[in-house]
Amino acid sequence: MTDRPAQPSTPPSVRRVLTLLVAACIVPIVLVLAVLMINFYRKEEARLIDNTLSHARHISTAADREVRSTQLALQVLAGSHLLQDRDLRAFHARIGAVVDKLHVDSILLIDLDGRILLSSLRPYGSPLAQLSDTPLLQQTRNSGQPGVSGIFTGPLTRQPIITIAVPVIEHGKVVMSLNATVTPATLQPLLFEQKTPDSWRAGIVDQQYRIITRSHDMAKLAGQQLPAELRQPLSRVNESMFESYTLEGRRSLFVYQRSEQTGWTSILCIPHDELTAPLRRSLFWLITLSVITLALGISCALWLARRVTRSIHALIAPALAVGQAVPLPLPRLYFREARELAQALQIAARDLQRARAESSESEQRLALAARAAHLGIWTRDLRQQHIWVSQAWRELFGFSDSAPLTLEDLLARVHPADRQHVQRTLDSTLFGATRYDMEFRIELPSGCQRWISSHGSVEFDRHQRPTLVRGVSLDITSRKQAELDLQQKQKEVTHLARVAMLGELSGALAHELNQPLTAILSNAQAAQRFLSQPAPDLPEVQEILNDIVTEDQRAGAIIARLRALFGKHDAQRQRISAQSLIDSVLHLISNDLIHQRLTLRTALCAETLTLEADPVQLQQVLLNLLMNACDAQSQQLEHSNVIELRSTHVGHTLQLSISDSGGGIPPAALDQIFTPFYTTKARGMGLGLSICRSIVDAHGGRLWAENNGHGGATFHLRLPLAEVSQP
Ligand code: ADP
Repeated sequence: MTDRPAQPSTPPSVRRVLTLLVAACIVPIVLVLAVLMINFYRKEEARLIDNTLSHARHISTAADREVRSTQLALQVLAGSHLLQDRDLRAFHARIGAVVDKLHVDSILLIDLDGRILLSSLRPYGSPLAQLSDTPLLQQTRNSGQPGVSGIFTGPLTRQPIITIAVPVIEHGKVVMSLNATVTPATLQPLLFEQKTPDSWRAGIVDQQYRIITRSHDMAKLAGQQLPAELRQPLSRVNESMFESYTLEGRRSLFVYQRSEQTGWTSILCIPHDELTAPLRRSLFWLITLSVITLALGISCALWLARRVTRSIHALIAPALAVGQAVPLPLPRLYFREARELAQALQIAARDLQRARAESSESEQRLALAARAAHLGIWTRDLRQQHIWVSQAWRELFGFSDSAPLTLEDLLARVHPADRQHVQRTLDSTLFGATRYDMEFRIELPSGCQRWISSHGSVEFDRHQRPTLVRGVSLDITSRKQAELDLQQKQKEVTHLARVAMLGELSGALAHELNQPLTAILSNAQAAQRFLSQPAPDLPEVQEILNDIVTEDQRAGAIIARLRALFGKHDAQRQRISAQSLIDSVLHLISNDLIHQRLTLRTALCAETLTLEADPVQLQQVLLNLLMNACDAQSQQLEHSNVIELRSTHVGHTLQLSISDSGGGIPPAALDQIFTPFYTTKARGMGLGLSICRSIVDAHGGRLWAENNGHGGATFHLRLPLAEVSQP
C-alpha cells in the first residue's frame, strides 16, 4: 500500500478570486434594485389604473348629466300649453328657438304610431317620415317614463344619432313622445374633459356595444359595434379592466365603467407599451448602469490582480534564493505587505547564510574532535537503507575506499562470535528502541582484532516511525586490553592470597581429614580382625567395608572442596541448565546428608531455565551454602532434619533459596557473614561465603541471607538467565 499524500486541488488564481469578489458585491445590489423597481412599477401601475377608472367614471357621470339635463328640458317643453292646445306651428317655432341651447341636434314630436309630427330640422308643414315602432317609443308609451336609445341611423339626416325621449302626457295618458336627437360629435367633448394623453383612446358605447362617441376616428367608427373579443369582457361586470387590442390593433389596457342610468359604457384604453414604458426605461438604465459598474469593477479587479500576481511572481526568486542562502536585491513590488515579505526573505537568507557558515565551522570542529578522539560518526537511513559514515569511521573499520556501504559489509567485519548480538541490537532500532550501546569485536582485513564501542540514537517521524539512526563508534581495544590485564592481575592476587592462607588451612585440613581417616583405620582394623577368624562374618565385613567407602568419600569430598576453593582455574562460562547444576550439586552432597542424617527437600521450578555461567564455580557456591545449612542444622540439639532447596523464576533471573532450621544468624551479623574470615565455627575459616559472594557478583547475580520467621536462616541466590538465542 502506498502512503502517498493526496494531491491537493489547484487553488483559484488571484485574478479569478478578485473577479468573483466584484461580481459578488455588485450582482446582489443590482438584483435588489431590480426587485425594488418592479415593486415600485407595480404600485405605479395600480395607481394609474385607479386614476383611469375614476376618469371613466367621470365620463359616465358627465354623459348621464348631459342626458338628464336634456330630458328635463324636454319635459318642460312637453308640458307647454302650445302642445296641449295643439298649436303645432307655434310649438315648432318654440323648439326651433331652444334646440341650440339644449346642445342637441334636433327636436322631434312623434305620435304613438311613430309618425313624425314636427322636426326642428324641417320647416313646419314639410312631409315627414313614418318611423317604425322603435323600442324607445314602446318604452315611452308603456312606462310613461323618459328614456334614451342606443345609436342608430337617423331617418332624416341618415347620420348616426341617439334619441332622448320624454312622454307628452294629457289627462294621465301618454299621447305623444317628444324626442331630442344627439349626434356623436355633441358627446365627444365629454371625452376630452379628462385630458387623457393623445395616445390613449376614450369612448362611450351603448347597451349593444355600438360606439356612441370616440376620441379618435369618430366619424368613421360611430355606430359600429365592438368586436366580440371586446364585448365579452365588457359584459362581465359594471367596472373593471382587461387587456386586449384597440380597433386600431394596438395592444392596450381597457379600463371601463357602465352607467346604471343609461346602460352606456365609458372606456379608456392605455397603450400597453406606454404602461410598461417607465419600467422598461428604468430596467434599461439599471441594466446599463449595472453592466458599466460590473465592467469597471472587473477591470479594477483585473488590474489589481495583475499587480498582486506580479508582486507574488517577483517574490519567487528571492524565496528560492533563501534555500541557497543568497539574499537577492528587492524586486519591484506594488504592495507594502509584499515588500515586507521580501525584506523578511532577505533577512531569512542572510540568517541562513550566517547559520550555514557557523554550522560548517562547527562541523569542521566536530570532525577535528572526532578525528582526534578516533570517533567514527555514522548515520543509517532506515527507510532508504542508506548508510553514511565519516572518514574516521572507515579507517576504524578498515574500509579503505569510499564506496557506498551496506549493512552486510559492516556485519561481515564483525567478529563471528559477536555478529548475532550486533545484528540483534541493530534490528532493535526497527522495533521501538530509542537508543543503544554495545561493544563488539571486529576483524580487520589485516587479520588483527579491534574492540568497538558503538552508541546509536534513533530519530522518529511524526507518526512515531523510526526513520534514522545516528551515532558514533569508538575504538576501545586498549581499554578492553587493560580490563583483561586487570582481571588477570586480580586473579593472580586472589590466588596468592589463597595460597598464603594455605598454611593456616593445613591444620584445619588435618583435623577435617583426621576423623574420616581414623574411622577408616579402625574400620579396616576391625575388618582384619573379622577376617582372621575361622568363620568370618562376611555380612559384617561387608558393612565395615561400606563404612570405609563412605568415610573415604567424605575425605575425598573435603579435599575436593578445598581444591575447589584454592584451585586456580579460569572461569569457564557455558550455557547450563539450572536443573543439571542442581542435580550435580545434590549428587556431590548426598553422602554428607546421609551421614548427618539430614533430608534435603526440593521444590524446583518446572521451567527449563538456562544460565550462562561457570558450572564449577556455581557448584562451589551451592555446596558451600548447603554445607553451611547442614552445619547450622547439626549444631542444634533439637532440630528438624530437613533442609529445603527451592528454585523460582523471578523476572529475568533464577532464584535459588536454601533454608535450614538451625540457630539462624544474629541480625547484626547478617552482612558481616559475607566478609572474609568471619566465622562462628570452632574450625571454620570464614571464607566460604565471601568467596561465594564474589563468584555470584562476577556472574552478575546477588547473594543475601535472612532469618526465617520460625527459626533458622535462608540464603537466597539470584542469577541472571542466559539470553534466549535466536533460532
Ligand atoms: P565458615 O563456614 O568457615 O565459618 P562461612 O563463610 O561459610 O565460613 O560462614 C561464615 C559464618 O556465617 C559461619 O561461621 C556462621 O556463623 C555463619 N553462617 C553461615 N551459614 C549459616 C547458616 N546456615 N546458619 C547460621 N549461620 C550461618
